[in-house]
Amino acid sequence: MQSAQGNGCCHCGQPLHRADYPRKPRGCPQAARQDCNTRLSLCCAGCRRRTTPDSVRFLGRRVYLAIITMLRSSRVHGSSMEGLADVSWVTLKRWRVWWADTFPATPAGRWLGGRLPPASQSVAYPERLLQSVQADTDTDRFTAALRLLLPPV
Ligand SMILES: [Zn+2]
Repeated sequence: MQSAQGNGCCHCGQPLHRADYPRKPRGCPQAARQDCNTRLSLCCAGCRRRTTPDSVRFLGRRVYLAIITMLRSSRVHGSSMEGLADVSWVTLKRWRVWWADTFPATPAGRWLGGRLPPASQSVAYPERLLQSVQADTDTDRFTAALRLLLPPV
């Protein structure tokens, strides 16, 4: 966010100001709603065009939080975690297709594909991501894995 703001507007070079906008993410626990009901964004002081930096809260325009998409798609964690939002099997199937077919072709997926250890080649996403990060706690593991989903800089 700060680096995007520091670069100024990519269209005219004028300073960028905070212009967050509301989102109503599905699958958001009540306790996290305060932190997750806005999408951080910037607006140009000159041409008024919006710059929205990449986010680990949301996967693009998806209505579910990124962490829910990752957790529920995970064959290891998805069924064992209590208190997670229910997701229809149609949505879950769509997400698994996205992880298997679409994600590896995205810039982040291609970048990661060449860097993950060969031992994980046969493991499906998102497990492959989760296994590739070193972390002491599940929270740290999911945070690190979500950061890997951001397009490479
Ligand atoms: Zn501008």
